[in-house]
Parts: sequence; structure tokens; C-alpha cells
Amino acid sequence: MLWHINDLCNFGCVYCFFPKVEKEHPEVGRFTPQQIYEAFQKTGRNWHLFISGGEPLLYPDFIELVNLLKTNHPIQISTNLYNKNVKEFAERVSPENIIVINASLHILHHNSKSLQKFISNYHLFLNKGFDIIVSYVTYPPLFKRIKDDFLFLKNEGVQYVLPCTYNGTFEGKKYPGSYTREQMRIIREIYQEPLELLVVMDKMHFYNKLCRAGKDYFFMDLKGEVFRCCTIWDSYGNLYQGTFKPDTSAKPCTSHICHDHCHGMMSLIEEPQPPEEEFYENGFFREMTIKSLDIVSRMKKSLQSV
Ligand code: SF4
Ligand code: SF4
Repeated sequence: MLWHINDLCNFGCVYCFFPKVEKEHPEVGRFTPQQIYEAFQKTGRNWHLFISGGEPLLYPDFIELVNLLKTNHPIQISTNLYNKNVKEFAERVSPENIIVINASLHILHHNSKSLQKFISNYHLFLNKGFDIIVSYVTYPPLFKRIKDDFLFLKNEGVQYVLPCTYNGTFEGKKYPGSYTREQMRIIREIYQEPLELLVVMDKMHFYNKLCRAGKDYFFMDLKGEVFRCCTIWDSYGNLYQGTFKPDTSAKPCTSHICHDHCHGMMSLIEEPQPPEEEFYENGFFREMTIKSLDIVSRMKKSLQSV
């Protein structure tokens, strides 16, 4: 379940999918952590929860919610790792059943002082025993500094970095699909996760292919409304209100493009073929990005076990 838990974020990234809001959505916090936990329990499933926002750590009572949910449901959290609640989260949540903390480094938001704070937050989680990866969006203006940024991270003890493909428009061109030859050369060095490469190559077209989205994989918004995926907004009821009803079998994809990246691809019955091994360039980045393969393979196992 990909769960958009809240809207509020202390950043305002230029490449964010969502518009910047000054106040949290009024529906956020309407249900208590206990009520949300019980709503998941009533489905009779062990969910794998991919929690994102907004900034999830700003969700009210997020620590209580995570501590309750993770007793039965493995959790992955995407966070900017730079807000007032980071330290308390690391102190009050144990790493058991937290599959991974995906710490997004939004480099354009940082100065040298805040970057050091981000790094120290990373080490705080690492030292507490969390699996933590740093993700970095390959937004076109960042290509001139990616290598320096990765080197910096490496020197600061960051072990693994996961490049994430930019989805959107820059200077009138749509991404992915508009990377230059030089940008593609860098991408071949830094991207080691085969499925993400299909995103870079603009190959997310699975129309009519059988997909388990709607049966085993869903997108849920902050009101508890469940949809087939974050591309196809067919309603599957409301989890908080007890009206969630999944399909009983996989169905053909009805969209000409899939925005669900790795979750969508993992839900396809016939998994797409990644580029041949020769596509990749071994080099400087490989050891920093290869860990993403482990993470994806764990996510895959978890999706297959629902
Ligand atoms: S940190 Fe994430 S949610 Fe917040 S503005 Fe940036 S991309 Fe959007
Ligand atoms: S392939 Fe992607 S868009 Fe199509 S149903 Fe699956 S997750 Fe949704």
C-alpha cells in the first residue's frame, strides 16, 4: 500500500509532485492511531506500507501510529530527514519491522550547515540500527553537481544512495524521456536498479498487461480513500470507514502510462525486462547505488507475500 499520509511539508521542492501548502489538510488527524490500526487489522491482511507525504514525520502522533502499525505491518518511510521530529522518531521507534528509511536529500534546499545536520541525522538512524538509504532526484539542473554530491556523501560516511528519476517538465521538456546523451552517460553510471532504469528510459507503458494493482497493491490518500494505484484512480472504498473492497484477481492495466514506478512494475504479473547488463557502466558510483537492489528485492518479496 502506497500511502500518501499528509500534505504538510517543511520544504517546497521545485520538483515536488504536490503544491506547497502552509497548513496541514483538515482531514489529517481525524482518526486516532488506534482507529487507523484497527482499520488495517479489519482487512485481515499483513500490509507492506510505503508511507510518504508531504513530510510524514510532521503527521500528528506519527510515532504512536508507526509503533502500532509495525507490530503487524512492515513499514517503509520516505522523509526529508530534516525537520523538528527526526530526533524524537529515532529515539522512540525501534528499527524492527521498519524495512527502510528512504531519506530524500533535496540538495537545493540545503546550505552547508543544514547539510551537516542531514548527515548527522542519517548517522543517528544508522547507529540505531535502521536500514537507511539516501535518495537523490536526478533533476536536470543537478547533473552538473551529481558527482560532487555523491563524493561528498561518500566522504561523510553515507553508504548507499538511490537515484530517483525526475518526473515533470524542465525548460519546456518532459522528463523522463528528455535526458541528453551526457546525462544518460551519467545515468548509466549511477543507476544500478534495473526497474528504475525503465523509468529513465520512458518505458513505463503497460496498457492491457495483467497487474495486481487493485488486488494486492493500492494507493491510499490521507482520507483513507483507496485507489487502484497512483496512476488509475478507480475507487476501492475507504479503509478508515470500513468500505475497502479489493479485487479477487489481477486485471489488465487501463492506463497508457504507469506512474507507479517500482511498485507498479512489481505488481505486474509479467515483470518487464530490464536493460541488458552491457547497458551499465561500472565505475565510481556502483558501490554506492548497488544497495538499492537489495532494498527492491526485499520490497518485491514483501509484495509477493501479501
Ligand atoms: S521534501 Fe518531498 S514532499 Fe516535501 S516538498 Fe520536497 S519532494 Fe515534496
Ligand atoms: S501497471 Fe501501473 S498503472 Fe497499470 S495498473 Fe499496474 S500500477 Fe497501475
